Amino acid sequence: MNILIMGPAGAGKGTMSDLILQAYDIPHISTGDMLRENVANGTELGKEAKSYMDAGKLVPDDVINAMVEKRLQEPDCQKGYLLDGFPRTLVQAKAFEEIAAKIGKPVEAVLALEVDFEILKERVTGRRVCPKCGAIYHISNFPPKVEGVCDKCGSPLKQRADDTVEKLTQRMKEYDASTKPVIDFYDEKGLVTHLDASQKPDVVFGRIKEALAKID
Ligand code: AMP
Repeated sequence: MNILIMGPAGAGKGTMSDLILQAYDIPHISTGDMLRENVANGTELGKEAKSYMDAGKLVPDDVINAMVEKRLQEPDCQKGYLLDGFPRTLVQAKAFEEIAAKIGKPVEAVLALEVDFEILKERVTGRRVCPKCGAIYHISNFPPKVEGVCDKCGSPLKQRADDTVEKLTQRMKEYDASTKPVIDFYDEKGLVTHLDASQKPDVVFGRIKEALAKID
């Protein structure tokens, strides 16, 4: 099963991806998470990506394309992939057509999560993440049992540096300019399921299961 999940910051890609990977046996590959890991480990890739990420801008296409091509050839991708946050530009989408064909894993479904800006603002500024195990919380919608502490591993929770209104506004501008054309690109191929992601997670996931039943 080769799936892309798309949507602006705060649309619920992380939450839906967790549910998808529990229900289907495919790895969740988030380019944002991969980049943050590289930044945290101080790799050359991380050093190059950091200034773009801190500014809410996109990391150059060639850097991302090479990173994804390498990742998809790892053994856990044998049954497919759930790509989150990629492709994010038309250049990436076109390059990915070639990469996916080369490795024999063409895109089968695109899940497009759609939410109003006001809801995104509330979700993103209240989001807290565990830097150790990656668990995601929200200060009012999904708080941890003990304030500021991860339920799963006990580590102190953090707010992502780009989870501010200012950075969200910048990321939305990038999304409208660069990523919406990618959804149009896959729409023309008839691969996109548009989802109202302002609904409760179980409702959104129900729709996702219906869409994926068609390619299973
Ligand atoms: P995310 O966690 O998906 O919101 O990604 C966080 C940041 O990582 C973005 O604001 C970009 O700076 C960078 N990034 C993640 N995925 C990509 C991509 N496909 N192309 C370019 N930059 C990306």
